[in-house]
Parts: sequence; C-alpha cells; structure tokens
Amino acid sequence: MQKIHEKLWHSLSLTDVVSELESHESKGLSDQLAKDRAAQFGLNELTRAKGQGVVIRFLLQLKQPLVIILLAASLITLFLAEYVDAGVIFAVVIVNAIIGFIQEDKAMKAIEALSGAMTSEATIIRNGEKKRIQAVQIVPGDLVLLQSGDKVPADLRLIQTRELQIDESALTGESVPVQKEKAVLNSDMPIGDRRNMAYSSTLVTFGSGRGIVVATGDSTEIGRINKLIAATDVLETPLTRKIHDFSGILLYAILAMAAFTFVIGLVRGQDLVDIFMASVALAVGAIPEGLPAAITITLAIGVSRMAKRNAIIRKLPAVETLGSTMIICSDKTGTLTQNQMTVQDIVAGGHRYAISGVGYHAEGEITPGENSFDTTANMSLHALLKAGLLCNDSTLKRDGERWRVEGDPTEGALIVSAMKAGYDLSVLEKEMPRLDTIPFESARQYMATLHDQGEGKPRLLFVKGSIESICLDCATMMGPDGEPDVPTQGAVADWVELMADKGLRVLAFAQKEMPPDTTRITHADVEEGLLFIGLKGMIDPPRPEAIEAVATCQRAGIRVKMITGDHAVTAGAIARQIGLCGDTCSYHTREVLTGLDIGELDDGQLTETADDTAVFARVSPEQKLRLVEALQKKNYVVAMTGDGVNDAPALRKADIGVAMGLAGTEVAKESADMILTDDNFATIKAAVEEGRGVFDNLIKFITWTLPTNGGEGLVILTAIMLGTKLPILPLQILWINMTTALLLGLMLAFEPKESGIMVRPPRDPSMPILTAPLIRRIVMVSLLLVIGSFGFFELEIALTDGNEALARTVAVNMFVFGEMFYLFNCRSMTHPVWTLGLFSNPLLWAGVGIMTLMQMLYTYLPVFNTIFQSAPMGQRQWGLVLLSSLIIFVVVELEKKISRKSIQIKQ
Ligand code: ADP
Ligand code: MG
Repeated sequence: MQKIHEKLWHSLSLTDVVSELESHESKGLSDQLAKDRAAQFGLNELTRAKGQGVVIRFLLQLKQPLVIILLAASLITLFLAEYVDAGVIFAVVIVNAIIGFIQEDKAMKAIEALSGAMTSEATIIRNGEKKRIQAVQIVPGDLVLLQSGDKVPADLRLIQTRELQIDESALTGESVPVQKEKAVLNSDMPIGDRRNMAYSSTLVTFGSGRGIVVATGDSTEIGRINKLIAATDVLETPLTRKIHDFSGILLYAILAMAAFTFVIGLVRGQDLVDIFMASVALAVGAIPEGLPAAITITLAIGVSRMAKRNAIIRKLPAVETLGSTMIICSDKTGTLTQNQMTVQDIVAGGHRYAISGVGYHAEGEITPGENSFDTTANMSLHALLKAGLLCNDSTLKRDGERWRVEGDPTEGALIVSAMKAGYDLSVLEKEMPRLDTIPFESARQYMATLHDQGEGKPRLLFVKGSIESICLDCATMMGPDGEPDVPTQGAVADWVELMADKGLRVLAFAQKEMPPDTTRITHADVEEGLLFIGLKGMIDPPRPEAIEAVATCQRAGIRVKMITGDHAVTAGAIARQIGLCGDTCSYHTREVLTGLDIGELDDGQLTETADDTAVFARVSPEQKLRLVEALQKKNYVVAMTGDGVNDAPALRKADIGVAMGLAGTEVAKESADMILTDDNFATIKAAVEEGRGVFDNLIKFITWTLPTNGGEGLVILTAIMLGTKLPILPLQILWINMTTALLLGLMLAFEPKESGIMVRPPRDPSMPILTAPLIRRIVMVSLLLVIGSFGFFELEIALTDGNEALARTVAVNMFVFGEMFYLFNCRSMTHPVWTLGLFSNPLLWAGVGIMTLMQMLYTYLPVFNTIFQSAPMGQRQWGLVLLSSLIIFVVVELEKKISRKSIQIKQ
C-alpha cells in the first residue's frame, strides 16, 4: 500500500487494480477505509510552487529606474561628501522599496486568495452511495464518475468508458482530445498513450466513464511535473501595458530634461553639487513612480469588491474590460430565471391536465382539464410520469423543512410531479431497474435510459428532451388506454405553443420497446421508432433582481441579449417578462431568432441581425461562438455566459467569458475570465459596475499624479532656466514626492463608486487615457502649483528680508496643501466634490490627517528643520498657504463645471 504510486497501473488487470486498492468496482471504498486513506495520504491538492523568497522580492523592488537613479545619486553625493543629502536619498530609496514591497505583497495575496477560492468538485461512489464531494477530499481507491465537462480530480485507472474523450493538454501539451478505453496496456506505454488512464487536471470533453483513483495530490503526474495552472499570475492588463509604454517614454524625456538642466547649470557656472542635486530632484519629482503601485492596488481592490458581489475574476484584464462592456449575452435558465422549476401543465394521450403546488415540496394535485380523462383512467399519463421519474439523474434531498434538488432543477420538477401522483422512485427503480443511460447534452437536447421490465418482457427505452429532438411532427402517440395508435392530427406543435407562450419550459417524453436482450442503447436507437407519450410544461419564474439588473444595464447603454437552448416561444415569453424586448416581441414577429434561422445566415448577414436581435433560442454552442464573432466584428465589447463543455470556445472568444459557478462544468470555468458564484445575471451587472468604478479610480489617480509630478519637475526646471534661486530645494522635492504619492494619491484607489456610474454609456476602449480635458487639467494644475510656489517664495523673501528657509517652507507647504486640496477635486472627474458624500472615503481622510501631521513635523520639528532646511511658519504664512490651496480647489471645480458636458459624454 505504501508504494502504490510506483505501480504501473495501466498494465494491471481491472481485478488487480481493484484488489490492490481494496476498492470495489461498483461500490467504491468503504467509509472507514476512505477515512484511513485520508489520514495516510492527506488532501488531494498540489503543493504550491514556492514563489520567490521575501528577500528576492524585496531586492526586485530596487530594480525600478527611479530607485537606480536615486541609488546612483546617493553614491555620488556620498562621494561629494554631502553626507546629509546622501543619507536622505538613501533613506528615500529604502522607504520607497519597503512601501512598494508591502503594497505589492498585499495586492498579490488578495488576488491569490481569490483564485484559491474556486474549489472544484467531483462525483464519487463510496459505500455504494453516489455523492458529490470537494475534489481535495478524494483518496486513492475512490471510485470516480467522469462526465463530459468535468475536470479529472486525480489520476485514475479507467474501469468503464463510454465514448470518453479527454483533453490532456494541461499535461502533455497535445490539444486534440484523447479517446479513452479500459483495455489493459503494455507496461512500457508512455503517458500520452495510456488510454486506460485519466490524469488529474485534464478535462473531459466528451462522453462519460468511471475510474479508480491511483494517485492524488503531488503524487499525480501533474503534481510530479509541478505545473500548477496558476489562475491569475500576471498583474498585467491592456491598461497597465499602455501605461508601461507611456512611462517608458516619459522616463527618457525626463532623464533628457535632467541632463539638459545639468548642462545649463554647468554653463552658468553654478556649484557642481547644487546643480547635480537639482537635476536629480527634477528627475525624481517628475517621474510618476506611484503609478504602477496605484494600478495594482486599484485592480486588486476591484477584484475583491467583485468577489464580495459573487463575481470571481480569473483573469485580471477582465476587471478593466468589464468597465467597457457594451453587450451582455446571457443564458436564460438559472441566470435570468430562478431555476426553481415546477411542472404546471401536462398533455398526455391528447388530454390536458393541470398540476397544483409550488417548489419541490411534493404537495399538489393533478386535475384533468375540460373533457379530459380522469387521472387514474389515463394510462399515458402514468407512462409520462414514470418516464419523468426513471429517465432522470437527479435526486430530491430534504434540508429540514425544505426540499432541494441535487442535480438538474428541470429533472427535480419531474420527480416532484410524479410524487404528487403517488409514485415512489425507490419502488419503481426496483420494478424497472435501469440498464443503460445516454446522458443529457445540450447539443442533442435529450436524455435516454434503458429499463428492464422483468423476464421475457421487452426492455423499455425512455427519452425526454426538447420537442424538436423527439417528435415535432410525429403522426401517432400513446392513447389514454396505453395503446400506441392515436393520431396526433398535427396538434403537438399547438400544445407546445400553448404552454411555451406562458413562459413554460416544455419537455417531451417518448418510449420505445427494445428486444429483451438489449443491454446498451445508442443515439441511433433514439433516432427512430419512438412512441410519443406527452408533454410537461414547467414554470421557471424570472429572477426579480435580474429584471432590475437588465433595466440598469439598459440605462447604462449596455445591451442585454438572451441566448438560450430553450424553445423560441418560451424564450420570447420570458424575455418579455424580463423586459429584454418589447411587449409584442415573439418568435412570430421575427424578434426572436432560432438556431435554425441563424444557420441560414452568412457571417455578414449575421453581423447585422445579431446587432438588432435581443433573443436567440435553440442556439447551439457553436452558434454562440458565431454570435460572439459577429458582434465583435462591429467592435462591441462582448460578455458571454456559458456552462457546458461546448461553450468553452465562445467563452474564450468573448471579451469577457462568464462561467456559472454552480451549474457550470469545470471546462467552462477553466475557459472563463469571470465566474459567477451564484449564477445570477444581476452579478454580471454588479461586476460591470465595479469594473467601471475601477477604471474611474485609475483615471482619478492619473489625474492627480501627473500634475503634481509635472509641478515638482517644473519648479526646478524653471528656476534653473531663469537662473533664479530654487524655491524648493532638491531634498525638499524628495520629501514632497515620497510623502504625497503615498499618503494622498494612493487613497484615490479606495474611492467608492460614484453615483450615476450606471447611467452613462460604456467607455470606448480605444479611447486614449490622456483625453483633451485631462491634458488641459494637468497643464493647468501644474502651472498653478509652480506659480504659487515661485510667487510665495519671492513674496516671503521680500517680506522677511531674505529668510530663505522660511520662504522655502512656505513654498513646500503651498505645494503639499495644494496637492491635498486638489486631491479632493480628483475624487470625481465630473461631479462637484460636495455631491460625493464628504466622508464616503474614510481612508482619504486618514491620509490627509497623517499628511498634515507630517507637514507639522516638517515645519516645526528641529531635526526636520536641520535636515530639510525648513523653518517654523507663522499665521500669515499659513494663511497664504491655505488661501492659495483653496484657490486651486475652486479653479479646478470651475473648470470641471465648464467642461462637464464634454467629459461626461466621453468618459
Ligand atoms: P437553457 O439552459 O438555455 O434553457 P438547455 O441547453 O439547458 O438550455 O436546454 C435546452 C433544451 O433541452 C430544453 O428546452 C429542454 O427541452 C431540454 N433539456 C434541458 N434539460 C434537460 C434534461 N435534463 N434532460 C432532457 N432534456 C433536457
Ligand atoms: Mg441549461
């Protein structure tokens, strides 16, 4: 037992595998053994690849251009024997690196925690009982059931396969799915050819199978090569890349300016040390070094805000793209509707029945419609109820007072309706045991089962599924006497329409007698000779919050389209109830398109039609992909939901692929950018809203940081160009630069979303970050800061008979408080500050408070006075500082008011 991982499982016979692992090929492990194994082998999870150590990550912080410039400057000043300056610069480097390190660490952890929050589940049999458990709880010897859409939870030796195909690209890099089988293989087969094995982390793309776990956790093949498929490991988005490029250019421009300043100073014959320090200060002041950290933090905050609202981000760029979503293509069942199914209408043997009761509680009555047979007299009604109960993979579980479906709610409703007529699954299962199954697949839209009716009797095949897949134009059906000979007289489509128009989800049922020796059924068996039994129509009410969310999206200029596998008439009815399309919209007015209609359009026509249509029914997964492509051709940013294996290509193609956390397959989740933990449409809306907030906050930070950095650089540049005294000394620039970016600017990342964020149209993703109004703002504010600092410096020099230390302290305080007041302006690009809720961002106040305290120390603490050559200020000086800051604040608010209209449209 100890060495089970070293066995060549693929070359052992099934009996050897089973006995070796003390398992059982139909019952799995006993509970006791499973417990022992769990203690022995631990959790089925991979040890995370160790990231870089703390020290390395800290040292990496020093790799930034700014830090390199500062380190060089520090060395040079040391060499020039300017010890205070050298010390301060060095301290700045260290503080900068520590802060950067902490920020990055926190952001990474936040994002990592979220990617770890998505645990996958698996279906196993233990003690003869089928159950779903967390994949981490699987132990060697467990009997695992695989179905298309599953992620293989551990390494398995397959003991049964049914057209099983597995995508092993995670392990082998080979993207063509491998056909699996259970046959014993030669021991020297390489991993890629071991067709009777299924490996952890690979994806089931087709069919089904079962296997016995031979390795878990780090002992699996994927664990051995330790290729963890990290969910979100790159902190990169289109915006960060844009900013990275922009910063690169900016860096060279600033360095050139600094060098130029240095040369000018030399030519003017200024002191070498002074001029060197000035150039360094110019560079340091002008580089917006807070930008990368601010972006990371803003994105991380966005990710966690979205997670709080049930949207898990798998790929970081989605946070940003969400903000510019223009079209959301959503599933119907479970996303726009509640997925709380109750059968209400039945047609059997040509007679109609109504069923009362709500939810999954089996209390209700079946009552015949006008002129319909009594329920007991109608044999076809009973065939229909039995078919619904037996051709079913779900179960009802009791949670205290409430009943809940384990499996598919559609199937749950079928169980409940049969129970209302007094049927009991455990009794019926013994009378007619199941021999084989064709599971439901959305591409084929039906499920079939084969049942034994006892010795010598024909075996019975039951099918349930969409009316199109079973019998839309069948001529005969089972009559009330159970005989297969009643003409339908073409009424089936009318019955379906009658139910569907009420928004009911309609399921058709059929049966077929098979020879007594049949043990397996195939799709070919279902294709002909079916006897139509009847229909069940179930209600699935819209989610009230989805109705609200759709309205919000429409106000926000985002169009919502329903893409469903359901019937066109049902889809139309639900779409009307949800407000996706007008009161008259239906299949008959051509406002609902079906998969068949789509099939007839070429790509060009589809582009136009897809744009204009809000409801698509009976859509196949391949058509979902075509729809995404058609919409993207018009440059729309498209979000698309999906849950099945076949949805993966559409999810990957969409700008935002959205997978369902509850009903979705692992394959869909792996392909998605975002996962909804509650499968709710309203969550997509919430994520879009947060995405817009994130982008807003990034822009706010940029709007704040660029003029402050511009101002800091310009002060020095201007003084040197004009050959005047520096109103702010290099060390003082360093001080301003270090403190304000952290204590002021960064706090904008925590701004709450503005009101009206969902009333304006989506942002055009091709729009540059620096728009004309933004550039105007940047120029204006940098100039105000420069003029203010120069003005006050000269003024104080004049008023105090050349007290430079005091004059510079005024200039520095003017700069800092100017930035502080401007920070409030930046809380919104468009809204007046006083409409934002004064205390809605407490962190901003904390930053402002600490910053003020720092300035008090800077101005009054003797040590600081010595280091920074500052001096205590009096009332007049404070008056000037506050007045000028207030002027900046008012001027920006005025400018905002003037340009409000033009920005409002573009942002
Ligand atoms: P959607 O989720 O968009 O409503 P589905 O692909 O789940 O679409 O279902 C499409 C159709 O397949 C349904 O209208 C129904 O007729 C049929 N169907 C759905 N679930 C099952 C099931 N469990 N068994 C048989 N048929 C089903
Ligand atoms: Mg569905």
